[in-house]
Amino acid sequence: MKIRNVGGINPELCRCGNWHNHWKNFSGQKIPYYCPVIGCGKSKLSATFVQIVSGVDSGWYVVPLCEEHSKTENEILEIDDYCRIVTANVNMTCELYK
Ligand SMILES: [Zn+2]
Ligand SMILES: [Zn+2]
Repeated sequence: MKIRNVGGINPELCRCGNWHNHWKNFSGQKIPYYCPVIGCGKSKLSATFVQIVSGVDSGWYVVPLCEEHSKTENEILEIDDYCRIVTANVNMTCELYK
């Protein structure tokens, strides 16, 4: 899947405490050990905001990427399909469970 790093971290915390936990809660997966960007494979991932390049919606999604890839901006990255992406729209996720 092709994603674009939006280059901004939403400082607003969601009900999960941080975006790392948000991804874990709604992906149903463990944070992967290695960066899902194809050909990367670095460790120490942090939650990053991205958009889906070919997606019909321009919403923000959260995906764990390595430090280097989490700092890129507007760069198109291809991630391995094993890694889920989770919407950053809290109205569709954690805010629902208030
Ligand atoms: Zn959340
Ligand atoms: Zn990476």
